[in-house]
Amino acid sequence: MQASSNIMWSSGRSEAQLEAGLAIPIEIRRLKSARRLRLRFDEAAGTLKLTCPWRTSRRTALAWALDQRDWIDAQLALAQPPEPFVAGGSIPLEGREVPIAWREDWPRTPQLVDDELRCGGPEEALARRVEAFLKRRARDTLSSDIAEFASAAGVVPASLTIGDASSRWGSCSSQRRIRMSWRLILAPPNVRRYVAAHEVAHLVHLNHGAEFRALEARLFGPGIGEARSELRRIGPRLRRIGRRN
Ligand SMILES: [Zn+2]
Repeated sequence: MQASSNIMWSSGRSEAQLEAGLAIPIEIRRLKSARRLRLRFDEAAGTLKLTCPWRTSRRTALAWALDQRDWIDAQLALAQPPEPFVAGGSIPLEGREVPIAWREDWPRTPQLVDDELRCGGPEEALARRVEAFLKRRARDTLSSDIAEFASAAGVVPASLTIGDASSRWGSCSSQRRIRMSWRLILAPPNVRRYVAAHEVAHLVHLNHGAEFRALEARLFGPGIGEARSELRRIGPRLRRIGRRN
């Protein structure tokens, strides 16, 4: 899979900072024939390969690659083994590892009992029920996160959709429609709330400028840098949970 763009993006950060922001090593190649920047994930080598037009500076190339981090994380996730929902397995619920227990005579709707997720009914339906349980919980929890931040920011979103976009944790449109991934319920609360604060700040500023960052930091409170890097670290695993392939 490839990400490509003809947008040049410059950054005030140093090359070392930019490179550190990427989860894996990157090789940059300049080609006379290249018209735009192209990024490829070499799964066997475990590296990113970036080709760019001849005159592109290393800093510009790195800054552009850093801007593709969601895409990079999605590629890393695909390279990891899946973690399907199975009896005897576990899920990180709000960041805490919770065992999945199954007994046919337990209630069909999964329930948290004594720090384990108990599921009953036919075993073939277990994965579907666990996923439905997580989506319901994600909807409730993210709705209250968004409501809390929106009230602090003095704005009202037009809608909140909980989905499973392959490469984004959240998004906000110019029509004030917020979308969030249900997988955020698997992340520790500070990570989930960071994404919620980020999208609510977009209700006021549809960019990542200084005013946006100030509002995002005010809504979230201290520790936003840690929450952001934690999402980078755990993101690839969260994307593989509950998948069968
Ligand atoms: Zn954003």
